[in-house]
Amino acid sequence: MVVELAGVALKAIGVVRSRPGGLGKPGQSGAVAEVVIDRSLAGALDGLDDFSHIIVLYWMHQVDPDGLLLKVHPQGRREYPLVGLFATRSPYRPNPVGIAMVRLIERSKNVLVVEGLDAITGTPVIDIKPYIPQGDSVVDAAVPPWIGEYYRVNRKLGEIYRRLVDCYGPQHWWPADGPFEMMVGAILTQSAAWRNVEKAIANLRARRLLSPQALRDLPAAELAGLIRPCGYYNAKALKLKYLARWLGETCGDDLEKLFAVDTAALRRELLSVHGVGEETADSILLYAAKKPVFVIDAYTRRIIDRLGMTPRAEGYAAYQSLFMDNLPADCEMFQEYHALLVRLAKEVCRRRPLCRSCCLSDICPFDCPG
Ligand code: SF4
Repeated sequence: MVVELAGVALKAIGVVRSRPGGLGKPGQSGAVAEVVIDRSLAGALDGLDDFSHIIVLYWMHQVDPDGLLLKVHPQGRREYPLVGLFATRSPYRPNPVGIAMVRLIERSKNVLVVEGLDAITGTPVIDIKPYIPQGDSVVDAAVPPWIGEYYRVNRKLGEIYRRLVDCYGPQHWWPADGPFEMMVGAILTQSAAWRNVEKAIANLRARRLLSPQALRDLPAAELAGLIRPCGYYNAKALKLKYLARWLGETCGDDLEKLFAVDTAALRRELLSVHGVGEETADSILLYAAKKPVFVIDAYTRRIIDRLGMTPRAEGYAAYQSLFMDNLPADCEMFQEYHALLVRLAKEVCRRRPLCRSCCLSDICPFDCPG
């Protein structure tokens, strides 16, 4: 990839790639990734593996250029002061250059295996430099107070995720056969245990009703009878009918077309559908549309509160910002993170928590019962 500027051309020297078989993905806190350097430049890496850490400069090629502002609240958080763009690490910059100091695990020919690279797969790499503590670290460097708060939250969220992955492994949500079934499941799971949702979906599947057209054609009373196992079946039948009607009117049942819509606009549209609240809309965005949106539910709030990370502002958006402002916008990681929090809440961080069995107990200030 060559980036053309006025009189300047930047040549990518390599690209970020997921580690085959690895748990983490590039962009996730602590994830191990590969930086694949152009083979013609492999000789330029000689001697680099004598350094434990390297500096990677990369081009954030997916950043929306329309997001550029001269002054920003760091991380978009209003509790942080409004400062000039260049006093932040916002990705929305005239030149979206990212920089990361990462641990170099190994070098194999033209491939560098690194830990801690905050860049997604496919990101062009534009330079590599060795990290030299004698020259690159400044012992008495001053930073504004908001930096300390940001790194405290950022590191803790990363640490929680790492521990949950280590403890429970990948969860591979959402259990559904295709995006429409996921949307149906997102409505049926409101105030219902998933095992009961599965029974309702099995009933619909057995009657070949898992399509918007089939649900539109089915009388509401008949639909209610089929989804009875998941509770609130009359209300949920109506919600499914509204959803199916909306899909027909909005995109002619073409979900690919629907999901191509910009995330914020699609969220607004979803929220306009009867029966779709924030949690349901975000579940659909994250698991069906595969948009990097963090889902907040009662389990997540409980865990975050007990971990002493309750946001200053109240409400769904504040909890969501806590994650989205402090983690890379990575759909798969958000999917896993949410699923892992649900698992933790169901198995350990219950209403009456089992803190002694919790993988977060030493970083959790909650006054655990006996
Ligand atoms: S230590 Fe206890 S309160 Fe804290 S997250 Fe774990 S189970 Fe919940």
